[in-house]
Amino acid sequence: MDHAYIIAAVGCVASCYAMLNLWRNRRSPGAFTCMAMFGCAAVYVVSALRAQPTELSLQLSFLAGGLISPLLFIAVKDYTNAHVPFWQYLKPLSLYVPLTVALMALFKDDSQIFQTLANEADMALRIDKIRAARQGALAPTTGLVYAFTLLAVGTAVWRLFTAPHQKKEMLAIIAVPLIVIAADMSYYFQGFLLFGAMPTPFAMTFGLTLMALTLYRSRIFDLRPIARSTLIDNVQDGMLVVDEQQRLVDYNHAALVLLEAPEGPLIGRAAGEIVAPEITELLQTDAPIREEIAIDGEVERQWLEVDVTPLIINDSACGHLLIARDITARRVAQEALQASQKALEAANQQLIEQSVTDPLTGLRNRRFLFERLQQEVNRHRRSGNVLSLLVVDIDHFKQVNDTHGHPAGDRTLQRVANAIQGVIRENDVAARIGGEEFAIIAVDTNPASSEVLAQRVCEAISAADGDDVTEQGIQLTASIGVAYYQRGNADADRLFSEADLRLYEAKNQGRNRVVCGPVPDPERDPEPDQSVAS
Ligand code: GH3
Ligand code: MG
Ligand code: MG
Repeated sequence: MDHAYIIAAVGCVASCYAMLNLWRNRRSPGAFTCMAMFGCAAVYVVSALRAQPTELSLQLSFLAGGLISPLLFIAVKDYTNAHVPFWQYLKPLSLYVPLTVALMALFKDDSQIFQTLANEADMALRIDKIRAARQGALAPTTGLVYAFTLLAVGTAVWRLFTAPHQKKEMLAIIAVPLIVIAADMSYYFQGFLLFGAMPTPFAMTFGLTLMALTLYRSRIFDLRPIARSTLIDNVQDGMLVVDEQQRLVDYNHAALVLLEAPEGPLIGRAAGEIVAPEITELLQTDAPIREEIAIDGEVERQWLEVDVTPLIINDSACGHLLIARDITARRVAQEALQASQKALEAANQQLIEQSVTDPLTGLRNRRFLFERLQQEVNRHRRSGNVLSLLVVDIDHFKQVNDTHGHPAGDRTLQRVANAIQGVIRENDVAARIGGEEFAIIAVDTNPASSEVLAQRVCEAISAADGDDVTEQGIQLTASIGVAYYQRGNADADRLFSEADLRLYEAKNQGRNRVVCGPVPDPERDPEPDQSVAS
């Protein structure tokens, strides 16, 4: 059995070496479980290779041996960050092994396995009895151990294909358990022995040494925390973690710059002393949030996009993670875009306004008048109210130009426009539809009222006689044709030409007058036009 002691010592040393290595990096994912696995493996190797086992050493070897494979699986899963289906059921199953051993030791089942084995002085017979026990009462435990080993191997195979850069480490994790399983199965099913003892602890020692060497060479657990902290310190997003009392627990370099944190030691200080109040407020959220926050500095406004995530461990809130990034450039660009959109809309509005306005007088133009006239005709047709249209032409306007010059004529047209604007109602529309021709849409205005309105327009135009620039009195008169419409099939053109006809009539009758009349409706009103001259 000298061989066995040497082998046990080698396995123990390899495990302790690996454990020491792992202890330094115990915060790294999977490292602590891996360390526990090496511990169990060392206990297993030493207790399983005892020449004269006691009841306790036998229990220890079963307990530790049974824990190796679930621990290996959990370590591989944590390290590779693998998503394992049905994990919530698998995790409690890993307790099955220690539980069965503890129950058998505590309650001394009928077969009293451990006592019987310890009392067996003959090594060969004892090994046979162990095999029989494992094939009997301990068979489910053996099955479970194999299953967990295969899960660990499966996870490593998955990792081998998804992250080939860790090929060597994953190959070791695949090979070592398979070697141990192969040795164990050769004994379990065939009764194969090595140096007169079970081959499993020997294979385990070989595997442990191989894994310890792989750990030493690859330094995978060394690298990962360094990689993480380097990553976090080099990202441009500021990150900080506060506890439930909003005291700073951790932060990265970018957070100090972005959040303009004060100098000096910060860990343990209240978040309110370190970051702006707008940000401190967010640190009370119960659900993850993202907000854009403006922070007005002395020189300029800074915009931050802030993500706050509550940190929850074992169903209880234990603080918040805050990630902040500078979006000032994006916001400035957005605001500039919005401003130029507004300016464009205003310019568009101005263009639309210009396209329907007469530049000389500021009244609506001919185009607008005809569009509005058609709308009003439609509306009045539905409502049955009377709509009147006045077409106004200044009498002998050519003489104004000839006598006083074109500029004075222009100013006169502007005064006429003001005069017309002064006598119409708010809802009426006045437009300049030609050189010295104007039109007025008088809505909901009956014949009598529209005639009164036309007379008022005539008077207002006559009153607009002086020219401030030339200080010359320019005597003006106007002729007006009025057409009104209540029901029937008239359209805007028809209404306009009726009003125009009456304007000609007014001119023919000697100018400076109003001629009114309805739009004849051939269906309802077959009688000839009854124009009224005044
Ligand atoms: P009537 O009584 O028959 O309407 O005579 P009138 O001179 O007013 O009519 P006519 O159509 O013969 O002349 C219209 C004049 O209006 C001709 C033109 O000199 C003048 N006119 C047209 N547009 C403008 C303008 O924008 N500015 C100025 N100053 N005059 C204009
Ligand atoms: Mg004219
Ligand atoms: Mg005229």
